[in-house]
Amino acid sequence: MVQYKLTVFGSPIAHSRSPEIHQCFARECGVAIEYTRSLASASAFPEIFRAFADDGGVGANVTLPLKEIALRLADSVSERARLAGAVNTLVKTEQGWHGDNTDGAGLVMDLQRLQVNLANARVLILGAGGATRGVIQPLLSAHVGELVIANRTLAKAEAIVAEWQQSGRNGKSASQPQTGRVNITALALDDLRLHQPWDLIINATSASLGGERPDVADQVLVAQPFCYDMVYSDAPTAFMTWAQQHHCAVADGFGMLVGQAAESFRLWTGHRPSIEHALKLLR
Ligand code: NDP
Repeated sequence: MVQYKLTVFGSPIAHSRSPEIHQCFARECGVAIEYTRSLASASAFPEIFRAFADDGGVGANVTLPLKEIALRLADSVSERARLAGAVNTLVKTEQGWHGDNTDGAGLVMDLQRLQVNLANARVLILGAGGATRGVIQPLLSAHVGELVIANRTLAKAEAIVAEWQQSGRNGKSASQPQTGRVNITALALDDLRLHQPWDLIINATSASLGGERPDVADQVLVAQPFCYDMVYSDAPTAFMTWAQQHHCAVADGFGMLVGQAAESFRLWTGHRPSIEHALKLLR
């Protein structure tokens, strides 16, 4: 008997690997789930979501381009979703639908799996879109030492940093004292040659989807940082190939995808599946 009726909303959605990832978790944890793909345009999403809820749905993932709409649809949202400005997980509770964002937790889980040391690390994030917003708080909670956000369009990186400074979350929050005071800075890609060395570079741009990499100077790799591309594909991305040519260790974002799914699964079922196990089966 199905214990959890789940879905992923998005457009397009046919390519989504979420159903197979969650079925893998369900088998490992001995939980019976039904997990479907729900195609929903931005305008149709609220109605399609209500129909899913009325039909016994208890949890959902939300992907592009619906994450910001899901933030408004939820009856309550977690702080990490509010700070990310996006919801990728909806959980039915007695108080209504709760919105959360597990992308950053998925990234941190994957970096830990890869044994990347985050404590006091000097971290460079390339890109200033939704993915970057979602990972800042989890990286700060993992005690990184310095965070620079560099973007092709500098104003977007500056806007993210300004929001963080206004929210007082870069170290001043009483609810998260372990974060510590961390220096978060916005830079243009061109200015990066002056700021080095890095321990970890995260490519949170969508450049890899077009076979490109952000146009940054080779000097950023001088200390051979770990180079993580949030995009995942069968072959190494242009960013990963460039980093490997400079003798850096690299990883793509498939482990992050599985990690964010594992955190969603935990929110719905209370079970913590192993991302290592799922990665072995799904790669
Ligand atoms: P957005 O569209 O919100 O942002 C895209 C960012 O990429 C912008 O900062 C943009 O810069 C930059 N960019 C695009 N092309 C280039 C280029 N050729 N050179 C330099 N910068 C470029 O996307 P998201 O933030 O939502 O997602 C970013 C990537 O992360 C996506 O590819 C997505 O697939 C991946 N992702 C992976 C996840 C996972 O689980 N593995 C989870 C979430 C996202 P500008 O502002 O100048 O336009």
